[in-house]
Amino acid sequence: MTKLPVTRRCRWCGRPIEVPPGPGRPREFCKASCRQADYVARQRSAESGISDAELIVTRAALDDLRDRLYVLEAAVQDVERDIDAAAGEQDLRDALAWLLEAARPLVASNLT
Ligand SMILES: [Zn+2]
Repeated sequence: MTKLPVTRRCRWCGRPIEVPPGPGRPREFCKASCRQADYVARQRSAESGISDAELIVTRAALDDLRDRLYVLEAAVQDVERDIDAAAGEQDLRDALAWLLEAARPLVASNLT
């Protein structure tokens, strides 16, 4: 697997950003929607008098994230127990599949 050197992370979502060698201002965001989300968040911060380091998010968005984290947390606990009790490769594959299934909604939510 070839990996490009990564030295920066998106200011909004934290995903790694490929930094091409050479001159020029390095990118701060991985995609236009992240740049836009960061802009909107900073506008809201300014309007509300909070600092650049603080964010205002909707309760629904936070609840959604917490729900997804809860599913992942439960899967981690299941898989830790399953790995201890695994009798063979298929048990490990099943445990990994469950962990991935629980993790994917979080990854998907980071893509938008
Ligand atoms: Zn991003």
